[in-house]
Amino acid sequence: MLDRLREIVQEVNTATDLQSALDVIVSRVRDAMHTQVCSVYLLDTDINCHVLMASEGLRKESVGHVSLQLDEGLVGLVARNGEPVNLQDAQAHPNYHYLSETGEEAFSSFLGVPIIHHRKVLGVLVVQHREKRYFDAGEEAFLITLSAQLSGVIAAAEATGAIQGTSPSGQRRADASFSGISGASGVAIGQGVVVFPHADLKLIPARTTDDIPAELKSFQMALEAVRSDIRALGESVGQQLRPEERELFDVYLRMLDDDALGREVMDLIRQGSWAQGALADVANDHVKAFEQMKDPYLRERAADIKDLCSRVLFYLQETERATPREYPVHTILIGEELAPSMLMEVPREKLAGIISVMGSGNSHVAILARTMGIPTVMGAVDLPYHKLDGRSLIVDGYNGTVYSNPSDQLLARYREIIKEEEQLVRGLEVLIDLPAVTPDDHRVRLWVNTGLMTDVVRSLDHGAEGIGLFRTEVPFLLSERFPSEDEQADIYREQLEAFAPKKVTMRTLDVGGDKSLPYFPIEEENPFLGWRGIRVTLDHPEIFIVQARAMLRASEGLDNLQIMLPMVSNLDEVHRATQIIKRALRELQDEGLNVVMPPIGVMIELPAAVYLTRALCKIVDFVSVGSNDLTQYLLAVDRNNTRVADLYSSFHPAVLNALQQVVDGAHAEGKTVSICGEMAGDPGAAILLMAMGFDILSMNASTLLRVKAVIRAITLSSAKTVLDEVMQMTDAASIRRALDLALYNAGVDRLLRSSR
Ligand code: PEP
Ligand code: MG
Repeated sequence: MLDRLREIVQEVNTATDLQSALDVIVSRVRDAMHTQVCSVYLLDTDINCHVLMASEGLRKESVGHVSLQLDEGLVGLVARNGEPVNLQDAQAHPNYHYLSETGEEAFSSFLGVPIIHHRKVLGVLVVQHREKRYFDAGEEAFLITLSAQLSGVIAAAEATGAIQGTSPSGQRRADASFSGISGASGVAIGQGVVVFPHADLKLIPARTTDDIPAELKSFQMALEAVRSDIRALGESVGQQLRPEERELFDVYLRMLDDDALGREVMDLIRQGSWAQGALADVANDHVKAFEQMKDPYLRERAADIKDLCSRVLFYLQETERATPREYPVHTILIGEELAPSMLMEVPREKLAGIISVMGSGNSHVAILARTMGIPTVMGAVDLPYHKLDGRSLIVDGYNGTVYSNPSDQLLARYREIIKEEEQLVRGLEVLIDLPAVTPDDHRVRLWVNTGLMTDVVRSLDHGAEGIGLFRTEVPFLLSERFPSEDEQADIYREQLEAFAPKKVTMRTLDVGGDKSLPYFPIEEENPFLGWRGIRVTLDHPEIFIVQARAMLRASEGLDNLQIMLPMVSNLDEVHRATQIIKRALRELQDEGLNVVMPPIGVMIELPAAVYLTRALCKIVDFVSVGSNDLTQYLLAVDRNNTRVADLYSSFHPAVLNALQQVVDGAHAEGKTVSICGEMAGDPGAAILLMAMGFDILSMNASTLLRVKAVIRAITLSSAKTVLDEVMQMTDAASIRRALDLALYNAGVDRLLRSSR
């Protein structure tokens, strides 16, 4: 059974569109289960019906024409309950709904299982038998397993249809929408540009060309380059090989011939595809076909095709690398897993929006996007992103939704939202020079998080009073090797000078987890629990000391530097890091520089550090809560994982309790406590954080004025009342609602939509 299952899933995977995928399913499942009927009904939300989309055994003419209302029939029952229905006499069941066009009266027994993808019922897979008998437990389990495996393929095929403007049953559809998670608030309207890591045939997006001859030419040049590589290889190793092995080189060369793979690729180019896309289509089809073959020898040929086509791809991409890409004026950057460096390749003025298929709102790409103020949707897992190149798109970063081929009405609605947002931002500008002080005179310090020099300029424009977190890894991520001490000192000096005499908190290099440097890859089974942050730099004192020297050198004469250590889990790490910083200081003083020891702080971002707050405060000058990581580690929810994104909430009561404990511990030791995770920039959270007693809230520049508006609108005493109420609550959703209400009562609920 397992083999049958694998074969069916593989075959369905090779189908090019929804209809052929469904046709394969019904015919293979009917054979595998020896039933007389197998059918698939899919939910078409445009007409709110379950449509008979494919069948083997029911009358062919009824396929595509017969549909059931949502609750109608046994199909409706399966879909509504999301559970299998197994009957020996379907017609005797009260929910039975007779569809005369299908000829199903001939079949008595019925087994229907739901097709569920990400908790949504997409449709129902049904098998039917003439004789009156229950399907046995093995048959039921087989169909459930199959349906679970096929749901992803069906969802993907449906999504591709939606992008092209059709619903499952072929209705014309405007405004195809795909849900993800909000990464950065705001709305962007623009044109899709799909980016992808090089040298992977699976990730090449579909793209059309208007210069067919040029594409043909670059393909032929790439082919010729590979041919000559193979010939050269054949000659150099030929003597050491047996004749049958030498023949392999000839086979390779023949595969590239004009009447083999080469011709198929050129045909697709002539139809308007760009060369890389045509090559990838042909290669992937052949690879799939070979991988399915029963004969192990032939199956292995799949690897040869992959190898050969990857070589051709390499040369095609080399040509592409030589000619830098032109980006549309309003670029919506799309990728399966976007890296911060991919964002940097697009000129800032052209980057309108970002969509990442993987990741969640707390991934570092999302954080970077928020710092840059670019509307972003993360975790759009159902998006057939490789089909979106050049398409007109709307990115709704408030709700985490992507629309493709939007109608004029939808575009008009979103243009209106953009206008409102611009008005709101302009309205907040009056607050820039006003202090963050509550009506009952409580002063809160609002600092910013930075990574790039552009953030610094934006931050000062927004009236920031200091830098609470400079993520030094950002310039490291954008470099092609470790930046030298001089290069680092220049970057740090810019930040310190721009803010002087205001404080600038520089975090020592925080790589590992989801932040890996291209020139220093860290590959681990469990990266968030592994070699990360201070653990890496303490193991590489040569990297640490260069960074510490660069920071100290940059601070000469300004004296507004603070150094902060990430991912601390024990006191020994702090002692060792402080020793390295002191060594750097001594060296520089010996070299004649006039530098002083800066305040040293630690980030409280592990549960261990929460419990050690008082002990840590005895050996450092300040602490700052990294609520992004603290939330992930307290709740055991990977901040990057789309599947568990709905469990990730900094409003979880456990997180709030931990925050209060940190504030109390730090104040008991007479130390300053700040918070620099994303939570600090949430207008609702600001009420709680202020009431808890945080001295400094450090956030993205784009949220600073919103938070200031909240602080100036709500008294400390009413914030404390809200905190007392919230601390009695036992779930994040109720807490969120209570905060929304508090914003409403304070008259600042207009800030709500923009809370990320
Ligand atoms: C945090 O973890 O809250 C934090 C500020 O650090 P980062 O997001 O860079 O891990
Ligand atoms: Mg962190």
